[in-house]
Amino acid sequence: MRQGPNYLGPTMNTRLILLAMLAAGCTFETDVRISTSSPSSPPRLVVGITVDQMRADYLTRFGAWGDPEAPGTFGRAGFRRMVDEGFACRDHHFGYAPTYTGPGHASIYTGTTPVVHGIVGNNWYDRSTAESVYCASDASVKGVGNAGVDMDGEALGSAGQMSPTRMLSTTLGDEWKVATGGKAKVIGMSMKDRGAILPAGHAADGAFWFYGKDLGQFISSTHYGDSLPRWARDWNDLGRSQQLMDLGWDRFHEEAVYAACLPDNNPYEGPFKGTLKPTFPYDLNALADQNGGMDLLKGTPGGNTLLVDFALAAIDGEGLGDDDITDLLAVSFSATDYVGHRVGPHAQETMDMYLRLDAELARLFDALDDKVGEGQWTAFLTADHGGANVPSHMASLGMPASYWKPGNMLDAVEQALQVQYGSTSKDRPWILRHSNDQIFLNHPLLAQRGIHRDDMARFVAEQCAPQEGLSKAIAACDAPALAANDPVVARLLRGHRPGHSGDVLLVPQPGWIEYGPTGTTHGSAFAHDTHVPALFLGCGVRQGQTFQTTYIRDIAPTVAQIMQSPYPNGTTGSPISDLLNDGIR
Ligand SMILES: [Zn+2]
Repeated sequence: MRQGPNYLGPTMNTRLILLAMLAAGCTFETDVRISTSSPSSPPRLVVGITVDQMRADYLTRFGAWGDPEAPGTFGRAGFRRMVDEGFACRDHHFGYAPTYTGPGHASIYTGTTPVVHGIVGNNWYDRSTAESVYCASDASVKGVGNAGVDMDGEALGSAGQMSPTRMLSTTLGDEWKVATGGKAKVIGMSMKDRGAILPAGHAADGAFWFYGKDLGQFISSTHYGDSLPRWARDWNDLGRSQQLMDLGWDRFHEEAVYAACLPDNNPYEGPFKGTLKPTFPYDLNALADQNGGMDLLKGTPGGNTLLVDFALAAIDGEGLGDDDITDLLAVSFSATDYVGHRVGPHAQETMDMYLRLDAELARLFDALDDKVGEGQWTAFLTADHGGANVPSHMASLGMPASYWKPGNMLDAVEQALQVQYGSTSKDRPWILRHSNDQIFLNHPLLAQRGIHRDDMARFVAEQCAPQEGLSKAIAACDAPALAANDPVVARLLRGHRPGHSGDVLLVPQPGWIEYGPTGTTHGSAFAHDTHVPALFLGCGVRQGQTFQTTYIRDIAPTVAQIMQSPYPNGTTGSPISDLLNDGIR
C-alpha cells in the first residue's frame, strides 16, 4: 500500500476529511473550504497499446471523427471512444530514424530515442562480433512454454531465447517497479517477441509472445522465470488459436463498404504462399502447411483477437488493477504490420483488419470498465512506426515513388575505394556491411593502413550521392553540424549510436523503399513512416486534441505524470501538458 494522502482516491479523501472534522468538532461553513475541482488519483491500471505500422491517416480514413453509423467506419467504443472521451495528438511523430518495430517499442516506453536506449534497429551490425544481432535476442536465456523450460534448446529453440538485455535504459515499468518496492505488476504481450519484451522492460513480471507453427501458444523466457504463470498455461490449454484458424478470414462487411480501397485482386498485393491471388476469403487451414501453420494468425485478424483474449486472461490472472498500486499492461498488436507488409495501406485487407481491430479495442475497453472500473484506468494508443504507400501503386498513378536497390551502388563504391585507398583481398573489403541504410567501414583495416575514418566516410558519401533514388548521403561525422538546419539529419542522429552505428548515412527519397514489388515497408525519416496516432483515454486525461507536434519520446513522461511515477532514466521527451487533467495532484 502506498503512503500519503496523495494516493487516496477522492472518495477516501473526503471520508477522512469528514471524520477528522467530526472529531475536531468542525463545521463546513466556518473552518474548511472544500475545493470544487476534485483531485484525480492515479489510475489502478495503465494499458499501453501499440498498433504495429498504424499510420496517422488510418484514424481519419476509417472515420474516427466521422459518423459512427456510417458503414465501414469505426464504432463508438473503440478508437472513437479514445477520440470522443480522450485526447488526440494529431501531429505525432517519431523524432528519429530508422523507424522499425524494435526502436519504436523501446522509444515509447523509455521516453527517449535509439541514440540513448541503444535499440537502433530490429537488427544491427555488431562491430565487436562482426555479426548482425537481433534487438531482443539473448543466448543466455531459454524459452519457457507450457511444457516448461526449453532445456535442450530444441522445443522452442531461438524463438524463446529473448530478453530486453540489449536495451540500455529503463522503461516506465522498470522505474515503477522500483518506486513501488516491486508491488506494481508490469506485463507485456504481443504476437512479436520484441513487441512484448521491450515495452515490458528489464524488471517486468512477465512478457509473452506468440509461437505459431503447430503449437499456437504464448511463450516467454527464463528472463522472467522458469515457468509460465498458471493463468497463461491455462489459457494456452484452451486451444483458442486453432479455433481462430478454423474461422478463416473473410470481409467484416459487404464488399461495397471497401469501395475507397483498391479492388480485392490487384498487382500491388502479395498472396500467401501456395495461392495465386491475394483475395478474400482466406482459408487459413488450407494455407497453413506452406505458411508456418498457426503463424498465419500473426498476419490475420485472429492475431488481434488472440491478444485481447490473452490480455483479459492476464488482467484476471495477475489481478491487474485490483488495488491502489497502479499496474502496467503493455499490449502490442502485430497483425496490422504483417498485413501492411503483404498488401500495403490501401488494400481491402488492411481496412478490414482495422475495422476488426476497432471491435477488439471496444471489447478490451468494455472489459476494463467492468473489471477495473470506469474512470479507474488509463489507456494510450500509438504505433511503433508508419509505412510507405506501395511504390508500384504510386508509380501507376504517376507519383515519384519507386524501389531503392543499393546493391550495385555499394559494389561500385567498394571498387572506387580499392582504387582510391589501395586494394584489399576479397574477404577483407573496405565496406563491411550495409544495414539500416548505413554503411559500416572496415575500422581495423583503416587503422592498419593509417587512413582517417572521416576522410573515407566523406569519400564514400560523395560516391553514393548521385545514385538514383537517393535523397542524400552524409558522413556520420558531419551529421551533428548539418542537423541544426536539416530536420531529416536531426532525426537520423537521434537513431545513430556513435561507435556502434554506421559511418555513412543514406537517405532514400521519400516514397522509395528497399522491398519487393508487392506490399510495403518502413524505416525512413519521412512522414509516411514517422506520422502516427497518439491517443490517450481515461483517468488523468483531459478531453481534447492538439495539432502541435508531439513525439513518441513524450509518451512515457506524460504517462509517468499520470501515474506519479519517476521518469525512465534516459528520458529526453517532455510531458504533453495539454492532455493532463488539472486534477492530477
Ligand atoms: Zn514492419
